[in-house]
Amino acid sequence: MENIKVLKGGEFLITESSAKDVFIPEEFNEEQKMILGMCQDFLKQEVHPYLERIDSMEPGLMRSLVAKSGEMGLLGISVPEEYGGFGQPFVTSMIASDELGAGYSYAVAFSAHTGIGTLPILYYGTEEQKQKYLPKLASGEWVGSYCLTEPNAGSDANSGRTKAVLSEDGKNYILNGQKMWITNGGFADVLTVFAKIDNDKILSAFIVDRNYPGITFNPEEKKLGIKGSSTVQIFFNDCVVPVENLLGKRGEGFRIALNILHIGRIKLGANVLGASRTAISESVKYANERKQFGNFISNFGAIKYKLGEQVIRMFAAETALYRTSKYVDDTISFNIANGMDRVKAYMDALGEYAMEAAILKVLGSEALDYIVDEAVQIHGGMGYSAEMAVERGYRDSRINRIFEGTNEINRLVATDTLLKHAKKCDSVVFGIGKSVFEQIDSNNESSTSYSDYFEKKHFYIRQLKKAVLLILNRAYDAVGKQFNIEQEIMMSISDMSIQAYAAESVVLRVEKLKSIKSEADFSVYADICDVHTYETSNKLFKAGMDAINSFAQNDEYIKLKKGLQQLTSIEPVNIKEARRRIANKLIEDNVYKF
Ligand SMILES: Cc1cc2nc3c(=O)[nH]c(=O)nc-3n(C[C@H](O)[C@H](O)[C@H](O)COP(=O)(O)OP(=O)(O)OC[C@H]3O[C@@H](n4cnc5c(N)ncnc54)[C@H](O)[C@@H]3O)c2cc1C
Repeated sequence: MENIKVLKGGEFLITESSAKDVFIPEEFNEEQKMILGMCQDFLKQEVHPYLERIDSMEPGLMRSLVAKSGEMGLLGISVPEEYGGFGQPFVTSMIASDELGAGYSYAVAFSAHTGIGTLPILYYGTEEQKQKYLPKLASGEWVGSYCLTEPNAGSDANSGRTKAVLSEDGKNYILNGQKMWITNGGFADVLTVFAKIDNDKILSAFIVDRNYPGITFNPEEKKLGIKGSSTVQIFFNDCVVPVENLLGKRGEGFRIALNILHIGRIKLGANVLGASRTAISESVKYANERKQFGNFISNFGAIKYKLGEQVIRMFAAETALYRTSKYVDDTISFNIANGMDRVKAYMDALGEYAMEAAILKVLGSEALDYIVDEAVQIHGGMGYSAEMAVERGYRDSRINRIFEGTNEINRLVATDTLLKHAKKCDSVVFGIGKSVFEQIDSNNESSTSYSDYFEKKHFYIRQLKKAVLLILNRAYDAVGKQFNIEQEIMMSISDMSIQAYAAESVVLRVEKLKSIKSEADFSVYADICDVHTYETSNKLFKAGMDAINSFAQNDEYIKLKKGLQQLTSIEPVNIKEARRRIANKLIEDNVYKF
């Protein structure tokens, strides 16, 4: 880790990073490439030939696929060796989630099992609980699920009514209540169930075996997409759970639920990448085969625009994901080197990057939604046919903006976490925003002072971050204690942060690629960087204006608008030609290969 600066959570807004400090997918090591290849082979052999059968919920099929993934070692990537896993770094587990994300409904079953289904026990279980459950979860002999949501408790998860009462002999908790939308619930053997003990205000967590008395499972839900993924309601009627199955301490359940969701969010940010790559590849293959007006449709500018844009959004989401994942790994290593036990080291690292996790979830799921939507559009009428892969991809994508915390909740989390950082180090975060505001009328710095390509890009990024801090500072000053209920403003600031993080991540990756790629191969990455910087600046300006129009008036409004214009203005770039060049590489490769 020498000479590498690992940013703390949210620090990206106040500290400048250099290319050498970020991890990029081109740096996967041999072992990681091997796991990536295993995941691709698994999908090719075991999943993709059977998509129809999976989506029709052929009895036993999904469960057998989870078991097969276990036999191949894919379920134990994050589980330490002493519990039957492989104890791989966080980045490696993200690579598996990314690649297997191309597995449609299977991806959801895999992700729920290895994430929310296994990790609560790994991070909060007693030694006995870990010994009992983890080896079987890692091998796929048992399947895991996570039961938090209830009919009246969704985003407000702590409001759940499922109740646990100690039996008279003190040996068991008696569980009563109802859970809904439980992924893998149709066949899971092990359920992490959140419930309140007696009249507690905060949830506790329990490990519940499927065969305990008093549990009933509803039939499978009929869904818009991910039709092959098991989703059921579960009822607990005097369900008897041994006291030793309490997970963590009494009243610790809500904290467990939230901490596991931080991981779930980053994992989702990885999952959507595999799905995005597939949809882009399907798009370009079709565009290269379909002729209209005597021309392949991939020759039309309107289609090139879509292909180029798909690539740019995918590239940005991927770049931000691996950048953050390596921060998590480095923070875990740092924590362990400083004497923290492994579990605490993990939890601390994942909590640290709560803001980035929320950003990745929103950025990735919205990139995928754009990509699958344009994939259908590129296919024209055929995109609407169930014969085409993009039809399934389109339907399956939609859930990603809903689960692991809706995108509204994640946007609020991102800004709320930023605000907490700001309050912790008031003079830095708010101080920058304040001084940017004061200098608006005297600011003469412009991109023309920089002749070097990347120096100019770094200047833009500094400006974008200043814009976020400017609006955060002025909005907080204007609405003060009302900030948390002025959600529209919080969402705008969140959008600004998302754009700033994505923009910086792309610039840093492309800068690093300059020393890896030949000049000829590099030029298309500069195109991605140019268009992405242009787009993020515009989106950030729009989000900033939405915020300003919501809280500023008169002279302050005029001054803030001027400041935002200064901070988001970039030199002209021919985005049409740049997008065409990006699309042309995709068209030539006939598959996503960036
Ligand atoms: C296919 C599927 C699989 C799932 N798998 C699981 C699982 O395995 N385990 C599990 O426990 N749960 C699971 N869920 C549940 C999922 O996590 C919830 O659906 C999600 O958290 C949203 O809760 P809700 O559906 O009750 O929506 P609500 O919370 O009712 O939200 C409705 C709308 O209001 C918005 N909203 C809510 N609160 C606020 C607020 N404070 N501010 C602003 N806007 C707000 C939301 O963003 C949303 O747009 C799954 C759901 C689905 C559909």
